[in-house]
Amino acid sequence: MIVSMRRHATKQEVEQVRARIEELGLKVHSIEGEERVVIGAVGVGDITSCLESLEAMEQVEKAVRISAPYKFVSKEFRAARTEIKVGKMVIGGGDNFPVMAGPCSVEGEKQIMECAEIVAKHGGQALRGGAFKPRTSPYDFQGMAEEGLKLLAKARDAFGLPIVTEIMSDTEVSLVAQYADVLQVGARNMQNFSLLKTLGKCGRPILLKRGMSATVKELLMSAEYIVAHGNPDVMLCERGIRTFETVTRNTCDIGAVAALSELTHLPVILDPSHATGKRSLVTAVARAGVAVGSDGLIVEMHPNPEKAWSDGAQSLTPKQFADMMTELQPYIALWKKSRAAEAAHA
Ligand code: PEP
Ligand code: MN
Repeated sequence: MIVSMRRHATKQEVEQVRARIEELGLKVHSIEGEERVVIGAVGVGDITSCLESLEAMEQVEKAVRISAPYKFVSKEFRAARTEIKVGKMVIGGGDNFPVMAGPCSVEGEKQIMECAEIVAKHGGQALRGGAFKPRTSPYDFQGMAEEGLKLLAKARDAFGLPIVTEIMSDTEVSLVAQYADVLQVGARNMQNFSLLKTLGKCGRPILLKRGMSATVKELLMSAEYIVAHGNPDVMLCERGIRTFETVTRNTCDIGAVAALSELTHLPVILDPSHATGKRSLVTAVARAGVAVGSDGLIVEMHPNPEKAWSDGAQSLTPKQFADMMTELQPYIALWKKSRAAEAAHA
């Protein structure tokens, strides 16, 4: 169950409710919001009478039963979409549809500056680029590490784009959080629980990618880790899953995007680049992402994909990126209409 404290409840009042929850035999997880503290209470037994006795407390605004195993991230907990602000970019909630774009890896100053210029010029709202790269082979390029982060920060300063970059290990969280605006958890780390817990305290929004063999429920449980440890700003990312199909690098689970929008209030981002592995397919799948009601896209683009140090085959050329941005416009216009209709009915 979720117990929502009254606005501006004091620490002492939160402690009283926490103690009462424990007295009722439930386990406590609390998250501090800006205006109010929300307490997750987990356990078995007579939940109805626990609910009643907690709601009877003066300090408690509301106690709600949540049946899904994920609580803070579920639609039952919060019906309204979570809105995440990253500089000027708003994700989820309102009527902004952000396209985040950039190379798979930061390769040098000239490359990242060129990418940032192209992204900004064609209406991209954030610059992506990995400085710590999770590579299948230990002999492949592993990323420029802190030097890459510095270059990303330089590109942000020059073009006013927030930076999205991958975090691979909990020992690097404070370093990456120093430079990045959004920390990306890659597919291979979706269930790195110690990393997820640390990200609960990093003070930056998280882009959590779905593991390549993870179910939608497992993705939501991983998001729950981050939120339960104190960070409510999590966006989820569908980036394709592993199936028997080999025509695409991964299989884009577009149905999962629709399902996630029903199950959670967190924003859902689609990555058509890793989902297909082929640049010729990226725009078509990006269109599907807008149509299915995702909250934004993250796309790989490189000034010279043939020479890219990673994921060249799926990276759009600058011209393809520009064309995709134009092609998406009518879809985004429809998307905005549907979000406006949703807001009018709320
Ligand atoms: C990436 O974004 O470059 C990346 C490694 O993605 P994923 O974790 O989805 O494979
Ligand atoms: Mn990549």
